[in-house]
Amino acid sequence: MDLSNKNVIHVVNGDCEYLQFRRLLEYNDVLKHAYGLKPYNFKVMEGADNKNAFECYQNLCNCIGVDYDRLVRPNQKHTDVVKVVDLIENSISHEKISYEDTDGLVTDKMEIVLGTVNADCILLMFFDPVKKVIANVHSGWRGTIQKIAVNAVNKMIEKFQSNPKDIICCICPSIRKCHFEVENDVKDMFEETFGYMSKVDEFIEYVGKDGDIDKWVIDTVMINKIMLHDMGLLEENIIDSGICSVCNSEKVHSFRVDKDDAGRGAALISLRG
Ligand SMILES: [Zn+2]
Repeated sequence: MDLSNKNVIHVVNGDCEYLQFRRLLEYNDVLKHAYGLKPYNFKVMEGADNKNAFECYQNLCNCIGVDYDRLVRPNQKHTDVVKVVDLIENSISHEKISYEDTDGLVTDKMEIVLGTVNADCILLMFFDPVKKVIANVHSGWRGTIQKIAVNAVNKMIEKFQSNPKDIICCICPSIRKCHFEVENDVKDMFEETFGYMSKVDEFIEYVGKDGDIDKWVIDTVMINKIMLHDMGLLEENIIDSGICSVCNSEKVHSFRVDKDDAGRGAALISLRG
């Protein structure tokens, strides 16, 4: 199964498989990145499985030419919090996650590797090639409702004087409208937050009843794209992998498919000097 398309290439290097965005590869001399696929699993667990996940991180880092010892990760608690990384002493150094109650990281420092993980949630990789700033953001449906993508762009503007017109945002594989089915409670939350958007009827759609229960599908990718566009990002700089984790669960980790056994995919991005 090859997931390559007009926006991403699927690289196979032994048992290490990953996606790279064609657009970001244009900056390969100053930027390294990847989205890790199955069979690797980047879910860090207590106890024995830790070794396996960290080996996966290490191998993926080696494949793209970044230093595993300089990997930092947020602990991803479905917050809207984006923090600036400027000290490498915050490195996870194999065992610990440094950034508590955080779902996005931003840096302008060279050689720091920002890592996030997902199983259906949206991961956004940001790059400003002018100011040389990167961000890596976990925007699950709760993060989307809290508009963490907007917080990330604001952080890049406030801390690093990024011009939104320069910022490239790449959207990793995630659950898509074809599979993100919800009931009234979640639908209502989205409607309350995003009902003002003109495309609301496109990204929230009624699909019918399951017994007595109303079912809806929501296009959280489209909502993130609209938020980014409204922040001033150019359409041609919002690059979507277009890959549904559920439709492609043979290669992409999916919570809806694999349930409690679900592993995690990982997005890594790093500036180089
Ligand atoms: Zn799907």
